[in-house]
Amino acid sequence: MTTNEASFVFTPPDRPHVAVAGTTERFPVRRIYCVGRNYADHAREMGANPEREPPFFFAKPSDAVVASGATLAYPLATRNFHHEIELVVAVGREGVELERDSALECVYGYAVGIDLTRRDLQLKARDSGRPWEAGKGFDESAPIAPIRRAAELGHPTSGAIWLKVNGQTRQSADIAQLIWSVPEVLVHLSRLFVLKPGDLIYTGTPAGVGAIEPGDRLNGGIAGLGEIELTMADKLA
Ligand code: MN
Repeated sequence: MTTNEASFVFTPPDRPHVAVAGTTERFPVRRIYCVGRNYADHAREMGANPEREPPFFFAKPSDAVVASGATLAYPLATRNFHHEIELVVAVGREGVELERDSALECVYGYAVGIDLTRRDLQLKARDSGRPWEAGKGFDESAPIAPIRRAAELGHPTSGAIWLKVNGQTRQSADIAQLIWSVPEVLVHLSRLFVLKPGDLIYTGTPAGVGAIEPGDRLNGGIAGLGEIELTMADKLA
């Protein structure tokens, strides 16, 4: 049954969407995938060996997206709320079992994003062999700046990636240091899931993740791509 034929018991929730830079159009979000441990120095700071692991993935709900410039409430149920600055890939075409040489054809564009993490809940889940949703897939956990279209930007393979909290640098690296490049991420992810227009892929964070407190101001960016900023509300509710 299509949406046009269905009669709903209440008004369906709005479709999440993200700004596209330089246009008034919006990118409709279908799914949000994330890559775990995709920079060696971050893998090490999380106690993992970056040499041996193929990429692995987790997900966030599509309605976790938040626009740059937002003020966020400190999330529920955590005492260790972390920032992870990341390059985000926006998918514009279906892709399944992609080949490395043609994988980028399914990319609509790129954005700067932050994979917000309730680190205490993530580590508790990880260490007890349980799912990561409580640590990663919570409300407002996927801030993202406007998407830049690959048709104009090309496909960035290097450029500084950084994040500051209250003006102090916390994360500073280069997207050239990704263990699994964007085409390789697309190859691996498309062996597990059929990629579709509207999918976002957070490609992993470099070292320097750390705690965010009420009242903090975050800004970050990727050279040549854009910047993102967030403000944390003053007080725990
Ligand atoms: Mn991450």
